[in-house]
Amino acid sequence: MVSALGRAVLAITDRSAVRSLFTKTAPGRALSTRFVAGETLDHAAAIATELNDGGARVSLDHLGEHVSDVGQAKRAFDDYLEALDLIDQHGLDANISIKLTQLGLGMDDDMAQMSLDQLALRAAEVGTSVTVDMEESAHTEATLDVYEAVQRKRGNVGIAVQSYLRRTRDDLDRIIPLDGHVRLCKGAYAEPESVAYQDDDEVDASFDRLAAMLMGSENVRLAIASHDDARLANARRLATSRKAYHEYQMLYGVRAPLQRQMIAEGLNVRVYVPYGSAWYPYLTRRIAERPANLWFFLRAAAGRS
Ligand SMILES: Cc1cc2nc3c(=O)[nH]c(=O)nc-3n(C[C@H](O)[C@H](O)[C@H](O)COP(=O)(O)OP(=O)(O)OC[C@H]3O[C@@H](n4cnc5c(N)ncnc54)[C@H](O)[C@@H]3O)c2cc1C
Repeated sequence: MVSALGRAVLAITDRSAVRSLFTKTAPGRALSTRFVAGETLDHAAAIATELNDGGARVSLDHLGEHVSDVGQAKRAFDDYLEALDLIDQHGLDANISIKLTQLGLGMDDDMAQMSLDQLALRAAEVGTSVTVDMEESAHTEATLDVYEAVQRKRGNVGIAVQSYLRRTRDDLDRIIPLDGHVRLCKGAYAEPESVAYQDDDEVDASFDRLAAMLMGSENVRLAIASHDDARLANARRLATSRKAYHEYQMLYGVRAPLQRQMIAEGLNVRVYVPYGSAWYPYLTRRIAERPANLWFFLRAAAGRS
């Protein structure tokens, strides 16, 4: 969910001089390590092992989105195959999260669908699943089309839905019968009022309504993805009458003590672990959600951290 200040942050961080400030300086890279496991799969493996040892499940996200040629989309596909091999070799309790624009959606939708299909097939061999992240609203319809086609065929694919989108309630009528897994989150992009609630209270109320609908759908493996105490408390209350599997998902580097506390209480917790060299857009979304994160960067830049 992006506030007016967050929108300003996204507009500024989109400029190339600001991008260089973050990607080419020590304070910028230091800030990225708070939210990103590292640039390589080995870094991600080390963090995933540590999280598994602490009782958390993991979702590995090889960072990248909006590729501009077929070669980049193919490399992203190969990177995800490598991640699935790693899950297999290390016996990790992990799945993968992918962005369809990273696999070519918007450039060659058939290619993106074929790649998701092959990743789901390999994930099934490894005994795990694939979750499709939800991106900007311009891609929602195409993302749902690809998701539906592959989930009908493979059965081990899930999708993220965003409570800030006005359409999500209706999209669930299409998603729930597919028997997949569903991740409910608020939504991380700057969207216009025509498609998305702008007011925090409306986004939160929508989150609680969708959580109720999903908690009542026992065929769905449900993930509540939030760090918001009120949303979590509401979901936990709803979960008392649910029998089917559900879990709570949080981002690597955000509210780690709460993650540990929920594991200690016996809840299923999955941590979303991003890694890779294309971390800048991911980092800007984390700053836009919480502009206070910039203080960490500014303190480091001023030599006080
Ligand atoms: C596992 C997971 C997967 C996600 N997948 C997607 C996706 O596919 N598509 C999509 O659009 N969005 C995705 N998101 C992001 C999500 O939509 C929100 O933007 C993000 O989770 C912040 O919302 P919140 O529910 O935590 O509530 P908020 O009200 O934003 O935050 C609640 C509290 O959490 C803490 N917090 C939240 N964000 C940060 C941060 N960046 N840094 C430090 N503290 C923070 C703060 O204490 C804050 O007060 C995902 C989030 C998670 C946890």
